[in-house]
Amino acid sequence: MISMSKGFLLIISGPAGTGKGTVCKELLKRNKDIVFSVSATTRQPRVGEVDGLNYYFVTKDKFESMIEKDEFLEYAYVHTNYYGTPKEFVMNQIEKGEIVLLEIDVQGALQVKKNFSEAVFIFLLPPTMEELKNRIINRGTETEEDINRRYENAFKELDFVGNYDYFVINDVVEDAVLDIEAIIKAEKLRVKRHSDIKNKVLKGGK
Ligand code: 5GP
Repeated sequence: MISMSKGFLLIISGPAGTGKGTVCKELLKRNKDIVFSVSATTRQPRVGEVDGLNYYFVTKDKFESMIEKDEFLEYAYVHTNYYGTPKEFVMNQIEKGEIVLLEIDVQGALQVKKNFSEAVFIFLLPPTMEELKNRIINRGTETEEDINRRYENAFKELDFVGNYDYFVINDVVEDAVLDIEAIIKAEKLRVKRHSDIKNKVLKGGK
């Protein structure tokens, strides 16, 4: 059987409060062939967040020196902090044939789109904007100012959905994960992700 497809980038974006974190966590738990790209950020850790697991929490100086050394695949300034994807890890994993999950904002996704034509872009949406606001408030980790900023940004980010390949509505987490798994399954079967299919069939798929 032909199984191995080339590695590719899977980008998931969506406004704060759409539940990207929860959906990505479940996706990773169920799919061992997907690896998560841990971003660097200058934001303070939230309660329960672990350095090196959720993010690499770095100072502004450190982040800026990483920019200078060209160590980011993409980076952006989001909600008053820097966020960026370390390049080396991602490139190594793609080389190994892995699917690399990037949970990044719309600005970062647009940068990736310029350089990685084979990446897959998914935009996660809340069922309603009212539900989105409730989710931001219920997280309880942000100040009122932060909540309002994130909610306003959510409206602006919705304008970017047209730049993505797929949209997934996160009403029930399980359903959103199933939708993403269906997208991945189809993407793995793209002819362009395989080299020399005919030869592999002739050799019995090896
Ligand atoms: P949060 O502070 O809630 O963890 O993340 C805020 C926003 O930054 C989210 O939209 C998240 O997707 C985005 N983000 C996280 N890591 C990265 C990254 O490496 N690059 C970019 N461009 N955005 C990121």
